[in-house]
Amino acid sequence: MDVIENAIGGKRVRSASTRRSAVYNPATGEQIAELPLSTNAEIDQAVASAKAAQVSWGATPPLKRARVMFRFKELLDKHAADIAREISREHGKTHDDALGEVQRGIECVEYACGIPELLKGTFSRNVGPAIDSYADRQPLGVVAGITPFNFPAMVPMWMYPGAIACGNAFILKPSERDPSAPMLAWNLIMEAGLPEGILNVVHGDKEAVDHILDHPDIKAVSFVGSTPIAEYVYRRGTTAGKRVQALGGAKNHMVILPDADLDQAADALMGAGYGSAGERCMAISVAVPVGEKTADALVERLKPRIEKLKIGPASDKDAEMGPLVTAMHRDKVVGYIDKGVEEGAELVVDGRGFKLQGYENGYYVGGTLFDRVTPEMTIYKEEIFGPVLSVVRAGEYAEAVKMINDHEYGNGVAIFTRDGDAARDFADKIEVGMVGVNVPIPVPVAYHSFGGWKRSLFGDHSIYGPEGVHFYTRLKTVTTRWPAGIKSGAQFTFPTL
Ligand code: NAD
Repeated sequence: MDVIENAIGGKRVRSASTRRSAVYNPATGEQIAELPLSTNAEIDQAVASAKAAQVSWGATPPLKRARVMFRFKELLDKHAADIAREISREHGKTHDDALGEVQRGIECVEYACGIPELLKGTFSRNVGPAIDSYADRQPLGVVAGITPFNFPAMVPMWMYPGAIACGNAFILKPSERDPSAPMLAWNLIMEAGLPEGILNVVHGDKEAVDHILDHPDIKAVSFVGSTPIAEYVYRRGTTAGKRVQALGGAKNHMVILPDADLDQAADALMGAGYGSAGERCMAISVAVPVGEKTADALVERLKPRIEKLKIGPASDKDAEMGPLVTAMHRDKVVGYIDKGVEEGAELVVDGRGFKLQGYENGYYVGGTLFDRVTPEMTIYKEEIFGPVLSVVRAGEYAEAVKMINDHEYGNGVAIFTRDGDAARDFADKIEVGMVGVNVPIPVPVAYHSFGGWKRSLFGDHSIYGPEGVHFYTRLKTVTTRWPAGIKSGAQFTFPTL
């Protein structure tokens, strides 16, 4: 049985921890590796090595730091399929979906290649008599990232390429469910010439997270995961004096106006609702058709497509979605379907009891569709994170907007329409951080920034892109005057021109 190692101080090391967690192949239900849950002493060691290494890395010209990113990008391109295979093996998503994830991660590395330009400061000559002033952003020191299972390669790359390019050293604590993809990427960044100790990977669970949050030498923490943990991480980390950005869960709606192309809308809902078995924070889990006619026509289009979804392991090239990540998560999703029935939603397609021949022990749930869901139901209020789409029928457009604005989450949202005025009004009024107009999964590209509103993000910064550079740096402003410009005599009044 494989034992997953940590990466500390430029070396792969096996943890001495006796606490272990199991890693499974969700397609088959087999255990494929053991993951030691790092001890506090091991995390201390990682932080100490990061702290020591950061001093010269922070002083390295940004152009040289960018060159490491250029080489890392090339290696990632070359090994994208290997990383995708690791993702599929431990997460269960299809190979093409995993490749897409790797590509979106690579785009964050490409953005980090521009770090000399991104860190360029501002200069003002003659802010006073013979006085000049410049301001630039400097690294924080040692920073950390704690990541979820659903994007084991991409979400860490939302964090560490930018943080490292800014001159920080990084401690990554990946998800316990699928730890191998970030280790492969670690091999590649070291091959690209990153100095030892600048990227450390320590595996673990709550104990490791708590130790990171309390550690006095870690200056900032990026977190991506579920809302209750995001809120906890934000509170505990900020109490310990750290800068924290904590991205949480979601319930993403797609509004379909009566003038929309319903075939396009149905296609969009299939991909956004069932791709990656619904285990995406930007998955659409609620469809809001406006008007009964729109709703009937939409459900009529969705039903046969959901019934025909091709579900299988990543080795099946025709599969459109794979299994859920663990048996526990599968049971949770099935529990939500039971709850929806109990609370009176109309179950149009039932994915419970789905079995795949030859993969009876895999964690599969079939595509599921509920109609006539109402905002009071648990399946509407809570994030299910599975292949379950709820249709909530809205009488009119304003009702759809109000419903979305009243929801506790505000990660992503989409509207499908041909009416430019309605789309503009929607983009203006909707209280959600990422909005798609005829785009079902509006994940911002690497040179914008990603972040939800309300209880989908705790903290003041979105992640990656320009906001990422701000998050991982602090502003310093220097005001200079040379002896020729200094008048003699002490001045006791506040300096003005
Ligand atoms: P999770 O919250 O269970 O775990 C995330 C991380 O927190 C992991 O590294 C885990 O080890 C750690 N953790 C778990 N329990 C903890 C505890 N009690 N105390 C401290 N740390 C703990 O999330 P997950 O199941 O891995 O991922 C799915 C969730 O992530 C979904 O809610 C999804 O919406 C969310 N997500 C959000 C975004 C976003 O950008 N907003 C992106 C991806 C995933």
